[in-house]
Amino acid sequence: MNLKVLVLPGDGIGEEVTHQAVRVLRRIADKFHHNLELAEGLLGGIAIHKTGTPLPEETLRLAGAADATLMGAVGLPEFDQAPPEKRPEKGLLGLRKALGVYANLRPVRAYASLLDSSPLKNHLVEGTDMIIVRELTGGIYYGTPRGIMENGAETRAVNTMTYTRSEIERVSRVAFHLARARRKKVTSVDKSNVLENSQLWRRVAIEVAKEFPDVALDHLLVDNCAMQLILNPRRFDVVLTENMFGDILSDEGAVLAGSIGMLPSASIGDKRPSGAWVGLYEPVHGSAPDIAGQNKANPLGAIGSVAAMLSYSFGLKEEASAVDAAIEAVLRSGHVTADLRPSGAPATTEQVGESVCVAIG
Ligand code: NAD
Repeated sequence: MNLKVLVLPGDGIGEEVTHQAVRVLRRIADKFHHNLELAEGLLGGIAIHKTGTPLPEETLRLAGAADATLMGAVGLPEFDQAPPEKRPEKGLLGLRKALGVYANLRPVRAYASLLDSSPLKNHLVEGTDMIIVRELTGGIYYGTPRGIMENGAETRAVNTMTYTRSEIERVSRVAFHLARARRKKVTSVDKSNVLENSQLWRRVAIEVAKEFPDVALDHLLVDNCAMQLILNPRRFDVVLTENMFGDILSDEGAVLAGSIGMLPSASIGDKRPSGAWVGLYEPVHGSAPDIAGQNKANPLGAIGSVAAMLSYSFGLKEEASAVDAAIEAVLRSGHVTADLRPSGAPATTEQVGESVCVAIG
C-alpha cells in the first residue's frame, strides 16, 4: 500500500517525539512492505519564525495532498504574550478546521505495567479502557460573537457556544461506530440541566442512537462525569462530548494512564470514497518547554498516534496492533522515560523509540 503522510514536527518536544514516531512508521512500512511517501511541513512557532505565520499556505497544500497528517505539538514560551492571530496554537486550530476533522478520538488505557505510575489506587484504575470522542470544530472555541469589549467603566468578555444538529449528528455517528467495534456502550456527556446547547446535544444523541440498536446509550452531566472518571473509570467504553467539555475531561483521562506523554489522539473527518477517514494524528501533550531539547520526553503518545493512523486512515489493523504490542513490550521492560518513574535509570526519548522498533522486529 502507498502511505502518503505529511509530518509536522512543530515546536519543543514535538520535534523530538515526532522523530521517533516517524522512525517507527518507517519500521512498520519496511516490515509489512508498504511504500512510505513522507513530506515535512511547518506549523506553529517554527512556522512563525520562518514564514511569519503559524499556518503557512504551503502546509495547507501539503496537508490537502496527504492521506494523513502526523503532528508533534506547537507552542513556544516567547509567544505567550502574542495576540491570538500570531500564536502558534492558532496554526493548529486553523489546520483542524481546514482539514474538517470534527471528531477527536482519545483512547485512555491503563497499562498493567504502569498502574503504579497513576496517582490513583491500582484497583480503581486497573482494566480502564475507553475512548473519549470530543467534537473538535464547533462549540465555544469557534462560536461568534466573541471578544473583550470596553464599555465605559465596565469591561465585558463574550464567548458563544453554538452547535447545529448536523454537527452533533456526525460526531455522534463516529462515537457509535467506534462503540460497535468495542463494548457497545456510548456515554454522552452534557450540561443539559443548564445549557440549551446541551439539550439539543442530548436530543440528537438519542436520535442517532436509534440507528445503532446494538449499542447502549446513557447520559451523564459533565460535572458528574468528571467525578465518575476518577471514581469508576471502568464504567466507560466510548465517551461522547462537545469541544470544551472534551478538552477538559480528556486531560483528566491522562491522569488515569499514568502520564500525559502516553496518550495518543486521532482527529478524523468524513470518510473518503476508499473508506479511509481523513485524519490528523498527534500526541495529546503540548510542546513541554520545561524539558524540550533534553532527550527526556516520552515518545509513546506520538508512537501510539502512528498506530491510530495505521488503523483509522489506512485500515491496517495488523500493523496498528504490531505498534501497540511493541509499546506494551517496552513498558513491560521498564526501560522508560522519567515521567513514568522507572525503578532504574530513565531511558531517553531516542532509546524508547529504538526499543519500540526492536520490539516490532
Ligand atoms: P504540556 O503538555 O506541554 O506540558 C505539561 C507537563 O507535562 C510538563 O511538565 C511537561 O514536561 C510534561 N510533559 C508533556 N508531555 C510530555 C512527554 N511527552 N514526556 C514527558 N513529560 C511530558 O502543557 P503546557 O506546559 O501547558 O503547554 C506548553 C506549551 O504547549 C504551550 O505553549 C501550550 O499552548 C502548548 N500546547 C500545545 C498542544 C498541542 O500542540 N496540541 C497541546 C497542549 C499545549
